Amino acid sequence: EHTLTGKTALVTAAANGIGRASAEAMAARGARVIATDIDGAAVEALAQTHPNMTGYQLDVLDGSAVESLIASIPPVNILLNCAGWVHDGTILDCDEAVWDRSFDLNAKAIFRITKAVLPGMLDAGSGSVINIASIVSSEKGAPRRFAYGASKAAIVGMTKSIAADFVKDGIRCNAICPGTVQSPSLNDRLSATGDFDKALAAFKDRQPMGRLGRPEEIAEVVCYLAGDLSAFTTGQAFAIDGGWSN
Ligand code: NAD
Repeated sequence: EHTLTGKTALVTAAANGIGRASAEAMAARGARVIATDIDGAAVEALAQTHPNMTGYQLDVLDGSAVESLIASIPPVNILLNCAGWVHDGTILDCDEAVWDRSFDLNAKAIFRITKAVLPGMLDAGSGSVINIASIVSSEKGAPRRFAYGASKAAIVGMTKSIAADFVKDGIRCNAICPGTVQSPSLNDRLSATGDFDKALAAFKDRQPMGRLGRPEEIAEVVCYLAGDLSAFTTGQAFAIDGGWSN
């Protein structure tokens, strides 16, 4: 069933992991997908394999690039904000540069892109904004995730605020809070510990199901929130975490 036919979806950080799986799943459901990533070659290659996908280089930290991209594409019906960055450390490991980078990439970029996309959604009288937060946020604390958890909690707050402000305008805004999900950046973090297997075992140990999530398992909820079947749902933070926060 092609539940997203006729809708245009803009995805950030679409080259890998959750963003990539979500871009592919929305394209498979009929959406016209504009897949963006700081790695433009990777999203251009991805788009080659899907007839209704286009790839564009976009660094979400670059405000003028965001403005000019949005001015050059059709009105966006679905916005998936997926770019994010993990700093590994406690408050004592966090300096102001780490704090600023965490908030610039995880929170401010969402503010910037959503603000640029919203006027088009208001003109259309509908739209769905989906923000990838994390279960490590306002929902749960985890060791060594100080700046990450704080900035991901900001996403939940922004999500609820946008949902409240535009609920009468046909615009919905929801967040997804994944637990630990297999992705290239997760593999990088595991390798960076110096003992990949031990670090992977530790991540699995904190998951009650004894496994990590798959990006496709997040993409399924993205498609639900993107489409009209979720029309009665706004301002929520959806945990998809294998029972970690339960
Ligand atoms: P990933 O981290 O492996 O891939 C991230 C992508 O973001 C890459 O393609 C990279 O090129 C792109 N990117 C990096 N900086 C960018 C920028 N400035 N502008 C545009 N693109 C940029 O993918 P992932 O692990 O699936 O993470 C995606 C999102 O999901 C992030 O917001 C992350 O915090 C969140 N998340 C991930 C997990 C997990 O365990 N993987 C858990 C909870 C939340």
